[in-house]
Order: sequence, then C-alpha cells, then structure tokens
Amino acid sequence: MSGNFKFCPLCGVGMSEREEGGLSRMACPGCGFIHYHNPAPAAGILVRDEEGRILLVKRRFDPYRGLWTIPSGYIEYDEDVRLTAVRELEEETGLVVGIDGIYSVESCFDDPRGNTLVVMYEGHVKGGRLRAGDDAEDAVFFSPGDLPPIAFDCQKKILSLITGGKV
Ligand SMILES: [Zn+2]
Repeated sequence: MSGNFKFCPLCGVGMSEREEGGLSRMACPGCGFIHYHNPAPAAGILVRDEEGRILLVKRRFDPYRGLWTIPSGYIEYDEDVRLTAVRELEEETGLVVGIDGIYSVESCFDDPRGNTLVVMYEGHVKGGRLRAGDDAEDAVFFSPGDLPPIAFDCQKKILSLITGGKV
C-alpha cells in the first residue's frame, strides 16, 4: 500500500512513488515530504460481568452495520489511549469502567476505512447504567458460548482468546 495523497499536503506539488527501505512510498519531489502510511490506532475495553459474560455493542453504522464488537474507537490526536478506551465505552454503553490492564493488541486488516491497530484493555464496571448510545444500536452482556455475529477479524481473534476459538 503506497498511500493515497495525490498532491503534497505541505506544498501542493504532485506526489510520486519512491522506493525507500524496500517499500514503495508516496513522496513529494518538491519539498521531500514522504507519506508514511500507518495504521490508525484504536482502543477498547473488554468487560466481563461476575458470570463471565462479555459486554458487546451492536454497530449502528457501516462498515459491518448490525454486527457486534467489543466497545472501542479511534484515538484522538491529543488523547491518552486509556482515556479513549474509557470514553468510547461510556459513550456506547453508558457504563463507567476502570482499566485493569492490557488484554490484547491486534492489527486489523479488514476495515474498509483503513487498517488499524487496536489496543484492547481489560476492565471492570465502576458505575453508570447500561444503555446503548452514540454509534451503538444495542449494548448487551453475552455468555462466551453464545456470542452474536462479530465484526472485524481482529475482534474475533480477541474474543477467541476467551472462547478457545469458537467465534
Ligand atoms: Zn511537498
């Protein structure tokens, strides 16, 4: 993947392909700007209740509208990764969660908006009331043996750590 800038975002000159370190990248012949095309970082929190059921949200919008994911979202440029995870979970489920540690870090290659890197924390409910909000159509605790259809391969991978492969 060589990137998607046609014109240099710094000086406006047409970008051209250049090989660098064995990879083809888009570079600006005018000012030397190189477009390093990296995955977008995202964060989420895996929350399980006292019965071991997993908190999932149903996607209100595309991509994968109607499928379920662990609450997660994109990290804002000046936002601490933990804050992103806590904020997204509260926006989507109404629950206030405390972080216990990192559960898993996965690359995601099947999001049509672009590749992402997901930092998935593990956490516990501290407060709030369960209700779907923001871009979630529903928010439900599911038992690991009875999960709904899951969006994104990386989310299936994370959940399979709990279910032993059955997602
Ligand atoms: Zn330039």
